[in-house]
Amino acid sequence: MNLQLQDKRVLVTGSTSGIGKNIAEKYLTEGAIVYINGRNEARCREVANELTDLTGAEGRALAAAADLSDSEQSDALLADLEAQGSIDILINNTGIFEVKPFVEITDEEWTRYFNVNILSAVRLSRALLPAMLERNYGRIVNISSECAVKPLGQMVHYSVTKTALLSLSRALAELTKGKNVTVNSVLPGPTWTEGVENYFQTLSEEEGKPIDELTRNYFADHEPSSLLQRFVDAVEVAEATVYLTSNRAMNGQGLRVEGGIIRAL
Ligand code: NAD
Repeated sequence: MNLQLQDKRVLVTGSTSGIGKNIAEKYLTEGAIVYINGRNEARCREVANELTDLTGAEGRALAAAADLSDSEQSDALLADLEAQGSIDILINNTGIFEVKPFVEITDEEWTRYFNVNILSAVRLSRALLPAMLERNYGRIVNISSECAVKPLGQMVHYSVTKTALLSLSRALAELTKGKNVTVNSVLPGPTWTEGVENYFQTLSEEEGKPIDELTRNYFADHEPSSLLQRFVDAVEVAEATVYLTSNRAMNGQGLRVEGGIIRAL
């Protein structure tokens, strides 16, 4: 199937590892020009080179470093990108998560979660959506989570931000009526990435159990409704995300890539 993504300019935030890196790789294999974002310039270049070697997409993976929780760095990145051409597809993937008891989450931490997980997406969407509407082509995807609709007691702050992303996506989609511009969200389930490895490291320290024991029993103990009964592969999230941006009729929705954990119609 031709996804018609050849030469599209794509910004994937938080793409130096995990789900974002896999999304970036998929776009490169579809012939797109992809901006690799993370906080560290050298790491962004390294990943851009690595993905070029993997996909043979010479000159099409470009470093775009910025800490997107910082509005000044976000603005500077947008100015840099604008000078190079318009962004057709924005994937707001940057996100942080960690297990923490609700009573220990301070105002500062709530603010940090809002900044990284929501405001990073708000700032970039606010800057890029008007030009997408003007050109009558654009795609925005916010990477939410299954916990947006099945909030987790051990990650209240994270769950709240992911629910907010669903609302942001739908509200922005309302602004696209009649245009070839879509705004959607993707809800991955537990997906094995560096971020999740860190999550299990914390859990392992808290519960005094080795990581392999925790992961072996994770789905039986914590996610019995999962039909997949294993971690989602980051490639599976990436393929669903890229497909979502190839189809104009899919707009204002949340695509669940969570192995059937959410037992709802
Ligand atoms: P990860 O920790 O492996 O990767 C996160 C990426 O974001 C990294 O490239 C990191 O450098 C970048 N990043 C972090 N803070 C940043 C900032 N302030 N500015 C710019 N870049 C920043 O995470 P992941 O597991 O691949 O998760 C990616 C997204 O998917 C997140 O939004 C996460 O909430 C969501 N998600 C993950 C899972 C999962 O199980 N892994 C499940 C549901 C949703």
